[in-house]
Amino acid sequence: MSKLFYESGLKFECTQCSKCCRYDPGYVFLSYNDLANLIKYFKISENEVIEKYCRTVDMGEHKRLSLIEKPNYDCIFWDNGGCEIYENRPLQCRSYPFWKPFLLNKEAWELESESCPGMNHGNIVPKEKIEEWLKVRDSEQYILL
Ligand code: SF4
Ligand code: SF4
Repeated sequence: MSKLFYESGLKFECTQCSKCCRYDPGYVFLSYNDLANLIKYFKISENEVIEKYCRTVDMGEHKRLSLIEKPNYDCIFWDNGGCEIYENRPLQCRSYPFWKPFLLNKEAWELESESCPGMNHGNIVPKEKIEEWLKVRDSEQYILL
């Protein structure tokens, strides 16, 4: 088996540039755990969370639930220079950039790093931690409608 390109870990430390939370259109897909966390945090019903903060996205074979954005494409939870729900932010946000497509090979990682100044910056995240994120993401149940 060929050696993983991240065998010795990968450098990542968020610079808090906020690019992944703002400016451009995108999706933050929610899992059942994410939705439950938002219900608990806001102390409102599932329907209210969905109505206030979510949209459905047609992916062809199925629909998924994503957070909505403000008219300027900032995430609905971007507020006063930070994430309003930081401790309860969805797994997609917490696990970035340790997503399977960016870990396929060095080229994929380097390509994504052009969008995120935190990649290849700061302390090394060990292989074990990276694989933990992959495992958590794999076992997470995303909402399919
Ligand atoms: S783009 Fe990267 S460095 Fe910037 S806020 Fe997002 S994770 Fe942090
Ligand atoms: S939920 Fe928070 S961390 Fe995730 S995109 Fe929105 S503002 Fe950024």
